[in-house]
Amino acid sequence: MAAPDITSDERALVDEVLRSPSLSCGPMVERFEAEWGERLGTRFAVAVSSGTAGLHVALIAADVADGDLVVTSPFSFVASANAVLYQRALPIFVDIDPVTLNIDPAGLAQALDDLEQGGERARRWLPRTNVGEAPVKRVKAVLPVHVFGQPAEMRPIVTAARSQGVPVIEDACEAVGAEHDGQLAGTFGDAAVFGFYPNKQITTGEGGLVATNNPEWASLLRSLRNQGRDENGGWLHYARLGYNYRLDDMSAAIGLAQLRRLDALLAAREKVATGYTERLAHVADVRPLQVAPATTRMSWFVYVVRFAPHIDRDAVISMLDNDGVPSRPYFPPIHLQPVYRERFGYREGDFPHAEAAGRSTLALPFHGQLTDEQLDYVVKRLAAAVNRCHRTRLGDDVVSGAAIC
Ligand SMILES: *Cc1c(COP(=O)(O)O)cnc(C)c1O
Repeated sequence: MAAPDITSDERALVDEVLRSPSLSCGPMVERFEAEWGERLGTRFAVAVSSGTAGLHVALIAADVADGDLVVTSPFSFVASANAVLYQRALPIFVDIDPVTLNIDPAGLAQALDDLEQGGERARRWLPRTNVGEAPVKRVKAVLPVHVFGQPAEMRPIVTAARSQGVPVIEDACEAVGAEHDGQLAGTFGDAAVFGFYPNKQITTGEGGLVATNNPEWASLLRSLRNQGRDENGGWLHYARLGYNYRLDDMSAAIGLAQLRRLDALLAAREKVATGYTERLAHVADVRPLQVAPATTRMSWFVYVVRFAPHIDRDAVISMLDNDGVPSRPYFPPIHLQPVYRERFGYREGDFPHAEAAGRSTLALPFHGQLTDEQLDYVVKRLAAAVNRCHRTRLGDDVVSGAAIC
């Protein structure tokens, strides 16, 4: 599905760390952070052990705690909503724009207004149940996700949040280097979180980073990732409850070399994405992900296609699998996962656009080193599968095409 792109640059920097006495809390993490800050143009960049850890500490910086509300998207990797639960707060889901698959800015503004009003108007945004948890308080953060490397429509989102005095935390884990109206994803909100798992555009193995211009948030984030230690307190002085969310220096070394190669890595992925899009133009019932005009630079995280409603996506997955082509149904909506259903009483129909996307999208094998021959093979097998995996209508029952395949 994915493959990291590792060269002698990464190996040389890791070797430099391994020849030093500082495998953690050393100078490589500082170099990594400094170059990130330069690249993003943010005052502070705080490296952490994963994107999920970054989301968690960013929410703590925004003062999100028991019973608070965080407005976010149901169509995302589960970590963006899980981080809200770590703080015993409630994710408030707003359905997505069916074209970009990012949170709908108008819906988000409406949710913020209604939740501020309270009463009946607020109730329609709240989950049916909140098993065993604190009473509901107020909105403490907005958490848009830049899904699949395409930035969310940030200007109206930030305006709506600011008008209520609510901070914006961007989940930019899938969108390193992406631009919206010429501005880098991760520079619109009060903090942005990046993730460096090996399937991301750039990797550290496990790792993440929080970018912010807020000096208080930056020092709080540094303390939280390091067991609650303070900058001027000692190693055995703990000012607050903290975590071990540190990034080690070997990982930072990989990430620093990757960051320096970022433009080349994104260009290679762009070329493969274009190759897919060109080939798919000749395949019926399959559309590539639409890139919005405001997306002035797409950062291809995955290559996702969307099937026409009469195509049995899950049957296509098994046919591709039989042909040795891996694929993933990104994303199964978060609100329909058992943990969210059981706790909050969500059910099918709650967020129709996210669910429709969840039923009809498929991520194809994707990384920057796929060859033309590999693309030819994947698209040929995909076209054959789509051709055979039609849902057939018999009376009122929709019969899965899986049997036919
Ligand atoms: C990858 C990702 C994360 C962070 O994942 P980690 O594996 O914890 O680094 C968070 N949100 C989204 C949307 C992601 O795709």
